[in-house]
Amino acid sequence: MRLEHFPYEIQSHLIPQTSGRYIYRCSACGQGFGIERLLYTCPDCQSVLMLEDEDWNRLKSTPGSRWREIFDYRAMLTIPAIKGIYRYHELIGAVIPLDAIICLGEGHTPVIAANSRLRDWLGIPFFFKNDGQNPSASFKDRGMASAFSYLNLLIKHAGLKDVLAICASTGDTSASAALYASYLVDGVKSAVLLPHGKVTPQQLGQPLGSGARVIEIPGVFDDCMKVVEHLSEHYAVALMNSKNAWRILGQESYSYEIAQAFDYDVSDLVIVVPIGNAGNITAVMQGFLKLHDLQIITGLPTILGVQSEHANPVYLYYLEPDPTRRSYRPVTVRPSVAQAAMIGNPVSMPRVMHLVERYRELGGESAVQVIQVSEQEIMDAMLTANRNGHIACTQGGECLAGLARALGEDRIRKNQAGILDATAHAMKFSVFQEKYFCNTFEPEYEVIPSKELQNSPYLIKLPRHVPNPGTGQALGASEFKQFVDYTASAIAELLDLKSR
Ligand SMILES: *Cc1c(COP(=O)(O)O)cnc(C)c1O
Ligand SMILES: [Zn+2]
Repeated sequence: MRLEHFPYEIQSHLIPQTSGRYIYRCSACGQGFGIERLLYTCPDCQSVLMLEDEDWNRLKSTPGSRWREIFDYRAMLTIPAIKGIYRYHELIGAVIPLDAIICLGEGHTPVIAANSRLRDWLGIPFFFKNDGQNPSASFKDRGMASAFSYLNLLIKHAGLKDVLAICASTGDTSASAALYASYLVDGVKSAVLLPHGKVTPQQLGQPLGSGARVIEIPGVFDDCMKVVEHLSEHYAVALMNSKNAWRILGQESYSYEIAQAFDYDVSDLVIVVPIGNAGNITAVMQGFLKLHDLQIITGLPTILGVQSEHANPVYLYYLEPDPTRRSYRPVTVRPSVAQAAMIGNPVSMPRVMHLVERYRELGGESAVQVIQVSEQEIMDAMLTANRNGHIACTQGGECLAGLARALGEDRIRKNQAGILDATAHAMKFSVFQEKYFCNTFEPEYEVIPSKELQNSPYLIKLPRHVPNPGTGQALGASEFKQFVDYTASAIAELLDLKSR
């Protein structure tokens, strides 16, 4: 819709203008640093940074009701730069001019209600938010759109040249970084570091297809992360991991979309997210806190973080209820079907600690919870979801398993509804479905397939006397009829079809 067709009083608010004063804020010592250069950790205490708008309070002069209108009306504009996450420009990229924004169709992913069978199985209504429907088929595109738009700003307006965008990845970060890098014309190359044999063939194919330099390293993600950190400290590279605070900013869009999808009434929702490097849960908490601060929402939803028993450092940390006695210890991971979250030492842990404290101050102790689930529960939940019309990856299954456990432990009220992050598309993780269906899980995974959830193709075998079109030789008309008759009746018998 054209600008002049919107109600007059909203028109001047609809097209985002650059505003604000962004700085990097150290999540440990609190010092601020300018954003003119790429910075990933505090130069003084080496902790991770968050982006902060020093002029944030200007946004409070616009009432929450007006912000809601702005976001709702903006959905009808046709300007490409704000078709994605930058519908919420003032909250996540106020300093970025529209001409620097890269949008490849990320964000605004569907929220799909569970059908009655699945709802009854769980006990409360719930929805999957299908972040697998992003361009590289995972939620990582939200943060990547933000990080690359900022990089593009530095290239276009600050003379940054010959950028090498680099990241370590459990698979999806590299797919996303390589995709966005390949779109930029002005001198951005990308290189991705992957743990050898620890990403799925689909995830390996993605950065290769985007033309990135793909480097495989022995070990697990945590080892790759150490190497990429070393590189970013000693060489001129742009680090695209969620250590890069711009990534977090873009991922906040997930919370804004949920708020908008539920008409800004989110108090009775439980937002369920898998935790790996903990960038996503950081962004989700931060997003709702910002909405609350601007009175765009009046109550905070509950946040439920989920980890596998095979990679559970955040769960173990919050197991201790007394904050003064908690101590954070990285864990050594074991093989997990939630491979994208198979991380023993989450980079965003200091951000999480800081935000959980703030979130609980406002929403109460139970407003943020962390739960762990078994590998078996993850697989069974994913397959059950996908047999009911969803496209959840293993991490989406982890969310469903986590919500089921939380309900079993009475941590969730029966009047709440769940929003589950299907963080990637099921197809990226089809190797785990295959292991389940073919009963080929290595023992370390501790997954025993259940007959009811297994599935396999049925091959029609032709007896010798039936003509076979699969031999490469064309069949004559009557031979072909014989083949069709035989095959059709075999299928009718198999499916127990009634004749009409
Ligand atoms: C990256 C990723 C996660 C984990 O997110 P963090 O921000 O690292 O906690 C979960 N699921 C999928 C599909 C991912 O790609
Ligand atoms: Zn610091």
